[in-house]
Amino acid sequence: MKVEFYKHSLGELEKKAIVETLDSLFLTTGPKTKEFEEVFAKNMGVGRCVGLSSCTAGLFLTMKGWGIGQGDKVISPAMTFIATSNSIIHTGADVVFCDVDKETALIDLNQVEDSLKKDKSIKAIIPVHLYGQMVDMKSLRGIADKFNVKILEDCAHCIEAERDGITPGQLGDAAAFSFYATKNLACGEGGAVITNEQQLADELKVIRLHGMSKSAVDRHIKYKHWDMELLGYKANMFDIQATLLLTQLPRLESLWQRRNEICNKYENAFSKAGIDFPITLGGNKNARHLFTIWTPNGKRDDFLTYLQEQEIGVAVNYRSVHMRDYYIKKYGFKLGDFPVAEEIGEKTLSLPLYPKLENLEIDYVIDKVIEAHKVFA
Ligand SMILES: *Cc1c(COP(=O)(O)O)cnc(C)c1O
Repeated sequence: MKVEFYKHSLGELEKKAIVETLDSLFLTTGPKTKEFEEVFAKNMGVGRCVGLSSCTAGLFLTMKGWGIGQGDKVISPAMTFIATSNSIIHTGADVVFCDVDKETALIDLNQVEDSLKKDKSIKAIIPVHLYGQMVDMKSLRGIADKFNVKILEDCAHCIEAERDGITPGQLGDAAAFSFYATKNLACGEGGAVITNEQQLADELKVIRLHGMSKSAVDRHIKYKHWDMELLGYKANMFDIQATLLLTQLPRLESLWQRRNEICNKYENAFSKAGIDFPITLGGNKNARHLFTIWTPNGKRDDFLTYLQEQEIGVAVNYRSVHMRDYYIKKYGFKLGDFPVAEEIGEKTLSLPLYPKLENLEIDYVIDKVIEAHKVFA
């Protein structure tokens, strides 16, 4: 048996919708993008949504919109995808990493508070709802307000979650989403920012498109001169992306249900076999983006090779960011700086998780993981 690491869930509905969009006037940012922005903002219970080319662009442009740049600092967890912290560096600001919790792998809020106490140049915090479980946003909001800093949620893993009655984007000042090929809502490449700050949303609409005062839609009805208000970028969502997203949105919950079922099977089987994984705290709804196990000490790469030899697709999400070459050279980080992120980065191993995964495949993965655990424990 061969089990792919990931298969997307786009199908006949998307094919039909794409043909309709191709038959229409707009390929770029047009009526479909506008519709997606309206529907997504409403779904997430937040005032505004701006469609973008990626989550990375969303994180970067939001910080630019807030005026964050050289001389400023922004907090990122050391256990995340590099996009989180790279986007900070692109603004000209510096990254302040915080370590993560041993059991959930989510950013350690005590370290966030300590960093804010020590360093007045920190302007924002980027909490990452890693693997689909939300950071404690109520507590984080309290901390951010105490030090008067912004919260920019990295929601690349997390649309469907809930914690303490709060959903992604509700307590942050802004939240960035990814619609990259393997994310829970996917169109190949794409992203969006949601926010209740009208001013930020207006600014994002301008800086996502060169700083032009009018978009293609504004210009097509009746040509009017546009001006360039400021130096923007090129990161607008376009209608082909928006079409694929709009057709999937009504299925988001049922796709989540299947992934949740798969995770429950994994968790039951692995608990019995004594295999560790990040816990979902009681009362939380986990968006179930990635399922990772924590392999025996020093054996992750052997474990990974073993599963690959059994034709099971696997990945590593993630090795700690501060120990990547670029970050070591830029900031002089060394082993021991963020020990929990380092430890998780050395033992984490992601298994196949997607709605199309069949029961026989799940059983096969479980058998082989337990077998590998016996070999390497
Ligand atoms: C995928 C991902 C991103 C970047 O998303 P893009 O849309 O590819 O830019 C950012 N943060 C995390 C945690 C991710 O997993």
